[in-house]
Amino acid sequence: MPAPIEDLSRCAIHTFTNKPWSLRQCIDSYQAAGVSGISIWRNVITPSEGGVTPEEAASMLSDAGFSVPALVRGGFFPADEDGKRQSAIDENLRCIDEAKAIGAEMVVLVVGTVPGMPLAEARRQTAEGIAACLEHATACNVKLAIEPLHPMYAADRSCINRMAEAREICEALQNPMLGIAVDVYHVWWDADLQWEIDVAGEQGTLFAFHVCDWRVETRSMLTDRGLMGEGCIDIPTIRGWVEDTGFRGYNEVEIFSEDYWAMDQNEYLQKIVQAYQQSV
Ligand code: ZN
Repeated sequence: MPAPIEDLSRCAIHTFTNKPWSLRQCIDSYQAAGVSGISIWRNVITPSEGGVTPEEAASMLSDAGFSVPALVRGGFFPADEDGKRQSAIDENLRCIDEAKAIGAEMVVLVVGTVPGMPLAEARRQTAEGIAACLEHATACNVKLAIEPLHPMYAADRSCINRMAEAREICEALQNPMLGIAVDVYHVWWDADLQWEIDVAGEQGTLFAFHVCDWRVETRSMLTDRGLMGEGCIDIPTIRGWVEDTGFRGYNEVEIFSEDYWAMDQNEYLQKIVQAYQQSV
């Protein structure tokens, strides 16, 4: 197990963690808390959803001296018609453009699936969709990180549920811009997790590490994630495996929680920082 984290130099927070806040509020509050990494969800840089433009975001972020590990999220490749698959690719290309505009290192991919479609077919379509985006990602110098999602989402959200399936696509496409985002919430239960993390390290595909916790009495499949230390995930041990590969990127705090979104967000941010220092 690695030593506890005393400083916040490798702490990043996803804007969706503080969903009630605008990008401006996130930047100002994270900066005041001593956090200088921020992963951006597209809603805060989409004017039609009340956000700023990517160009405005870029200057706000650089003025404040923030690093942006990721723009979240692209993906959702499988579809039951060619036209829809092409629309998904087009949307991902736009997402890569936005990532470039705000200086994000990578786009996180929640790959999608179609209810009722065989998972093997959905994975084949996912690989095809990602392949169609790699040239543009390379031209924009934006990495693509496949995020395996917990198998409870296999029906309707992601056909990639373990590191193994993400690895298979990385191995098939063999592109230095393509890798994996390891989110403890989704993969903590996997008996092969340590081995897969090692292999991702060797293959140069370990792009990101996301933290939150699995509440034992989960009340919602989407919006009941816990703060680090509130659930059953041994985050320090997993972080140790990740760091044993040489990974020195951000530990990205990504929590969706109706309870925490209802709280005063400044108080919540204090809890996040405390949980980060005690339980990551
Ligand atoms: Zn994540």
